[in-house]
Amino acid sequence: MSDGCCGTTTSLELDQLVSTGDTSALPVVVIGAGPVGLAAAAHLTERGLDFLLLEAGHQVGASVAQWGHVRVFSPWKYNIDTAARRLLEADGWTAPDADWLPTGAELIDDYLAPLAELFGDKVRLGSKVAAISRLGYDRVRTNGREDAPFLIRLDSGEELHARAIVDASGTYTTPNVLGASGLPAHGEPGVDVDHALPDVLGADRDRYAGRHTLVVGAGHSAATTLLALAQLEDTRITWAIRAGSAGRTYGGGDADALPARGALGTRLRAHVDSGRIRLLTGFFTHTVRRNGDGVEVISRDPSGHEQTVTVDQIVSATGYRPDHSMASELRLDLDPVLGSTRALAPLIDPNQHSCGTVPPHGVDELAHPEPGYYAVGVKSYGRAPTFLMATGYEQVRSVVAAIAGDWEAARDVRLDLPETGVCSSNLAEAQEQRIGLATGISGGLLATPLPLATVSASDGGGCCG
Ligand SMILES: Cc1cc2nc3c(=O)[nH]c(=O)nc-3n(C[C@H](O)[C@H](O)[C@H](O)COP(=O)(O)OP(=O)(O)OC[C@H]3O[C@@H](n4cnc5c(N)ncnc54)[C@H](O)[C@@H]3O)c2cc1C
Repeated sequence: MSDGCCGTTTSLELDQLVSTGDTSALPVVVIGAGPVGLAAAAHLTERGLDFLLLEAGHQVGASVAQWGHVRVFSPWKYNIDTAARRLLEADGWTAPDADWLPTGAELIDDYLAPLAELFGDKVRLGSKVAAISRLGYDRVRTNGREDAPFLIRLDSGEELHARAIVDASGTYTTPNVLGASGLPAHGEPGVDVDHALPDVLGADRDRYAGRHTLVVGAGHSAATTLLALAQLEDTRITWAIRAGSAGRTYGGGDADALPARGALGTRLRAHVDSGRIRLLTGFFTHTVRRNGDGVEVISRDPSGHEQTVTVDQIVSATGYRPDHSMASELRLDLDPVLGSTRALAPLIDPNQHSCGTVPPHGVDELAHPEPGYYAVGVKSYGRAPTFLMATGYEQVRSVVAAIAGDWEAARDVRLDLPETGVCSSNLAEAQEQRIGLATGISGGLLATPLPLATVSASDGGGCCG
């Protein structure tokens, strides 16, 4: 029924679809060509369902490319979707070493890019989705709603129609703000703020060398950036956290259940103790403003006490949040804390889970009151930092099975993520020995976001940098 040009429909065809209430001839639209969007495309291909994959960036894995210099902490065997593997191998592709920890750039070059090539013009780059709704239905109108095609409006103004939407648009482009209360700090929009994991020792070196940098955040992205900055000899470093001590970031040192986490914390503590890194605790970023060539950053804690630091650069390592605004005319059921679906929230709560302990979940946990719309991948986790590609791959396997009407397969959700296998610090160390990463830091941690295999409520949880 589609006209063969990337899933668009003529108005005559659309009239027929609307009058019969049968949208099954329309393509499924996948939003975002990251690892999970491309995995969805692989499952749709295997199921013989027509689809169109819309990617805002000018390459596949556009968000992954932003952290291309970072080595991930889960080995290849957990980073390749099963349907994608089957399609690629049928095309003559050879999978990379199962135990290797790829960088973001390797993830694109050795997996995502060859996968996208299999889909030809079903993948449209430079196609940013601005809004989605149901044709002829705002959020309030009910009668006949589920039979109406989805309407997808691109930022170019072009409109497309779909039978279902798999939204894998991620959270990378919507980082959390610097402001300590979740609101932007006063003046924040007018000041240059770098977001987590800049390539301090590579492409971004000139931005930091010889300058004074403030890193805000208490997670492992902050720790990784701080240790990288500490390698630039003539660079001044200040680290600001809301907590009264950095104990959570330091972890348990030699006694830590995870050697890599302990080692990272021990090195960080040594830099703080030696004065190489200046630590500001109880720092609640309230205002940022230009001051000559630098930026003045003012903390105001809940009691009104102020501290001020003036720096050249700010790195905000405060996490990410989902942007559901493009789906604001759809009926979403969002958890008030995390911004995931409410059914998923207790399964991914970072107070209870690390990435390796999230239970398997699929279409039932991802469904919204709006039938046919599914947010998947890291976006589905909202603000929870416990997402892994492997969980996203199982999500899209289940969701695509449901779209195909195969509810038995959709509900047979499985995920085998051994806690110590998917986020293995040992692998990072073994790999460093194999390739001799010239980080000067054992464990390869400079380029490896620190995994958490176990987590307590006081840790705050997290996996992914
Ligand atoms: C530094 C870092 C390290 C990580 N390490 C690991 C790891 O070791 N193991 C692991 O399993 N996970 C890891 N993760 C977590 C997670 O697996 C990745 O973030 C992964 O890229 C998420 O895949 P995704 O497809 O859901 O989203 P993304 O990779 O973020 O892809 C989203 C895509 O959607 C596109 N897009 C956004 N908005 C629109 C729009 N409006 N219209 C069209 N396209 C749009 C973006 O350009 C992007 O290409 C890591 C994450 C980070 C940031």
